[in-house]
Amino acid sequence: MKTYKIALIKGDGIGPEIIDEAVKVLDAVASCCDIEFSYEEALMGGCAYDITGDPLPQETINISLNSDAVLFGAIGGQKWDNLPREKRPESGLLRFRKELGVYANLRPAVVYDELVNASSLKPEIVKGVDLMVVRELIGGIYFGEPKGRDENRGWNTMVYTREEIVRIAHQAFKIAMTRSKRVCSVDKANVLDVSQLWRDVVTEVAEEYPEVELSHMYVDNAAMQLIRDPKQFDVMLTGNIFGDILSDEASMLSGSIGLLPSASVGAKIGVYEPIHGSAPDIAGQGIANPIATISSASMMLRYALGENDAADKIDAAIKRALKEGYRTKDLAQFDAKEVCSTSEMGSIIANY
Ligand code: ATP
Ligand code: MG
Repeated sequence: MKTYKIALIKGDGIGPEIIDEAVKVLDAVASCCDIEFSYEEALMGGCAYDITGDPLPQETINISLNSDAVLFGAIGGQKWDNLPREKRPESGLLRFRKELGVYANLRPAVVYDELVNASSLKPEIVKGVDLMVVRELIGGIYFGEPKGRDENRGWNTMVYTREEIVRIAHQAFKIAMTRSKRVCSVDKANVLDVSQLWRDVVTEVAEEYPEVELSHMYVDNAAMQLIRDPKQFDVMLTGNIFGDILSDEASMLSGSIGLLPSASVGAKIGVYEPIHGSAPDIAGQGIANPIATISSASMMLRYALGENDAADKIDAAIKRALKEGYRTKDLAQFDAKEVCSTSEMGSIIANY
């Protein structure tokens, strides 16, 4: 029997509630796939700041580097919003990604057939949507220097080097090879110099993948096309800030931000987390949708551990729960047979 070491970072807000459900499902799938998980918990975010004075204690980095993969909930909340920037939970998370070197954020946006009516768009527009946003995660304007502010000015810098663009482009093309072999690279090359380099380098990398069809789109048009005709996309390749915005937008195609997982990869250890935040407005009420996190655990099995059977089992269990009409509150207004709590949804999926 294979044992995998998983670092669990529950974080703040709904983080602990949703991670607990993912662990429940992982343990259930382990027992039928002849694998085993040993978990080690680590602190990050506001809870880490409250206990240690640092939103990203060194021990958390050590535990993560010493694991096979990191399963992460969410961090942040109003309580910590007025701290200086480097003490804020979000800066802990940015530093964490940078320390691990996970430069590629993969965000699938899939519309479950069972939920076509949950989307704010018409069913005929969203039925069958299955796209993957590949977002550069540790460069661009969130990290570029110089940055700062004084009384009258604030500034950030969008920088990409050739090397950073090459490696994220390879990720996108490799993923496209396992899918419908189409990459749409999103930039703002009509205005930004950094985007012109981006476009040139992506075009060069594309030559190594002759089977993949490459197109380019300006980010403003891409935002519109995602709503107008999302099925035109297979893989969307983007920089950090554009990917942040477009993947949140894409998530709404599926009906709830509580459904969608992500994987941050490219380094030795990957980080698997829901795309949503810590949702302080619903924390502690037992109503958060755990599916995004359970689905992130499935991505972890697939991408980090190569346990595709176990991942398939989880994906099928999620679909079955939705098909049978189980809905958490975020999805319940549409067609719920039964509104269930966070832990009920976790148990239903775990028990299939
Ligand atoms: P971040 O900056 O960390 O991305 P955010 O400010 O974008 O966070 P979220 O925490 O993602 O915000 O929450 C946005 C909205 O979506 C909130 O109303 C929240 O309650 C809701 N939400 C987020 N996650 C879930 C979930 N798993 N289940 C149900 N609702 C959720
Ligand atoms: Mg957000």
